[in-house]
Amino acid sequence: MQGVGFRPFVYRLATELGLNGWVRNTSTGLDIEVEGAVRSLEAFLERLEREKPPPAVVLAREVSRLAPAGFERFEILSSDGEETRTAAVLPDLATCRECLAELFDPADRRYRYPFTNCTLCGPRYSIIREIPYDRPNTTMQGFPLCPNCAREYHDPADRRFHAQPVACPACGPQLDAPIEQAAQVLEAGFIVALKGIGGYQLLVDALNEEAVVRLRRRKQREEKPFALLMRDLETVRRYCLVSKEEAALLESPAAPIVLLEPRPGHGIAPSVARRSPYLGVMLPYSPLHHLLAREFPRPLVATSGNRSDEPIAIDDAEARDRLGPIADFFLAHNRPIARPVDDSVVRLARRRESVLRRARGYAPLPIPVRSSLPPVLAVGAHLKNTVAIAVGRQVFVSQHIGDLDTLEARQNFERTIDDLCRLYRFRPELVACDMHPDYASTLWAHRSGLPVIAIQHHHAHVASCAAENDVRPPYLGIAWDGTGYGLDGAIWGGEIFLVEDGRIERIAHLRPFRLPGGEAAIRECRRAAMGVSFEAGLPLEGNPHIARMLERNVNSPSTTSVGRLFDAVASLAGVAHFNHFEGQAAMELEAAIGGGRTEEAYPLPAGDWAELIRRLRADIEAGVPAPPVAARFHNALVEWIVEVARASGVRQIIMSGGVFQNRYLTEHAAARLEALGFAVYTHQRVPANDGGIALGQAVLAARGYSYVPGRSG
Ligand code: ZN
Ligand code: ZN
Ligand code: FE
Repeated sequence: MQGVGFRPFVYRLATELGLNGWVRNTSTGLDIEVEGAVRSLEAFLERLEREKPPPAVVLAREVSRLAPAGFERFEILSSDGEETRTAAVLPDLATCRECLAELFDPADRRYRYPFTNCTLCGPRYSIIREIPYDRPNTTMQGFPLCPNCAREYHDPADRRFHAQPVACPACGPQLDAPIEQAAQVLEAGFIVALKGIGGYQLLVDALNEEAVVRLRRRKQREEKPFALLMRDLETVRRYCLVSKEEAALLESPAAPIVLLEPRPGHGIAPSVARRSPYLGVMLPYSPLHHLLAREFPRPLVATSGNRSDEPIAIDDAEARDRLGPIADFFLAHNRPIARPVDDSVVRLARRRESVLRRARGYAPLPIPVRSSLPPVLAVGAHLKNTVAIAVGRQVFVSQHIGDLDTLEARQNFERTIDDLCRLYRFRPELVACDMHPDYASTLWAHRSGLPVIAIQHHHAHVASCAAENDVRPPYLGIAWDGTGYGLDGAIWGGEIFLVEDGRIERIAHLRPFRLPGGEAAIRECRRAAMGVSFEAGLPLEGNPHIARMLERNVNSPSTTSVGRLFDAVASLAGVAHFNHFEGQAAMELEAAIGGGRTEEAYPLPAGDWAELIRRLRADIEAGVPAPPVAARFHNALVEWIVEVARASGVRQIIMSGGVFQNRYLTEHAAARLEALGFAVYTHQRVPANDGGIALGQAVLAARGYSYVPGRSG
């Protein structure tokens, strides 16, 4: 928020509604925590926006539901200096209503100008090179203001007062090709590389199967779903089911990709999101996207401009080089991009926003934490990497960096660390990394020359979710994902921790099984299926070579991973046999439930899946269809959580890790637990997947990391 008199206004509004809590200034705006009746909280949010004092504007806001803190009054807190000294760097904001009106007003001097913006909207994080945030410190440096723009920029009454990226056709950036031509290329089924806000995107007609297949082939992306760009909300409704909350997410200033349920017979080319239960859809978020969407009104595939898993291209020459073999046409411009910022991905779960990939529109807004933290740099995990810095009572989590498999990705990782530290004038005294000795991020931490704390992967997952929900111990932490390095060197991923006084104890875990072929078993689900069958003493069907590996215990590491159990079940049920991308088989198994609803569950006593696998195999042989089989498996996991929660003696349950991107599992577990009186916390602002690891590492390293070693191994 910008403007004066905001804190007293917040104080009056909160006290009038009988809400307790606090408000405090930070570099980026205000932190407000309010507690009270749900209806009063809703009224507070609504009136905050509607009744704010006139000079104040809300540029971006994030709302999370936190654990109750038991405040007794409402207070205006003083800032403790640390936060106010950090730079105010805002995320990139989608085109506002007024700028949009000007864009299509033939009488306006910015008619059809693709770089229109104002104080309320436009690029921010993607154009800042240095702080303070002034035009010469942005990529707008090479565009001196014309007299008209200068007048707006210096007029306190103008909507563009001190809007750093302000520009017009006379003085601002220009396109290097006509939009109409790009539309014709798309119309003909060809691929366009568009220079967007945080990097290049690849676009293609989403209704043209042949064109989408061509993009997949050239981009070397086999299965991972593509995101869609649709011209307006009305168009989205034609293809997807959109709730009120989902519509609000689509139209928010962050304008993320929102995962939506497609309408039956929607007509989008099948190769856009083959076998995925969702379509990822976003609305135009820059004037350039709006102009193109008018010119080409059908849905467009809009995916990151890169080859398979490399970072998104931002440099023009590099983009021509790397994307040249993929794109048939380039629509670029001469405003440089300071850093790569991918499109964010969110979805609604438990009726609240849950971020799955945090980048454009969100980064670098900080996550507030309860107590002031020492300067820690957390370098995250390996997949879906992000990094984070702890600055006082705020943790700045970087934009999504991606998997650190390629050299380009690792360079981007290093650049992002330098960039965050430079922007916030941050000098880390400690580096937190994963315990996995071979992660590129871990290796970097040990090369940094700073003291290093290695944090167990699933401890970090749970701490991350606890931090963003402001949950204090004691609590139960369910950490389920595909892979993480365990304290005993095994592959963990089905862990349940009891967290008391900041000390973490592993009180339950999935019964271990072996993964024949190690890494290869992550891709091929049949291997996990053979691993559980072998362990359960069931006959082994499939490749005799793999069976021999199990029998001789060669190259078959032990795992407690729920993600791998999903793979095994997906394969045994005949639903999915490969993970072309992380979590694919699990996603397909969730989708397999379809409309089939059942309360029945397979047995999973104390995390022992042996009987579950026996029953499941018997069901499959008896011809039971996939929907009830998939549902009974999901329900078994829910019941196991309930069993451990009941025995634990604590009332707060945290669920983190990539497995909880599964909406059926998350919503059913939360509903069951809440009905029993437990308070349930899931991710909201940071991802449940490894994109959330850096936040957990930062808070654990900063607060003194301690766990119970060795027990219940
Ligand atoms: Zn605007
Ligand atoms: Zn101008
Ligand atoms: Fe993980």
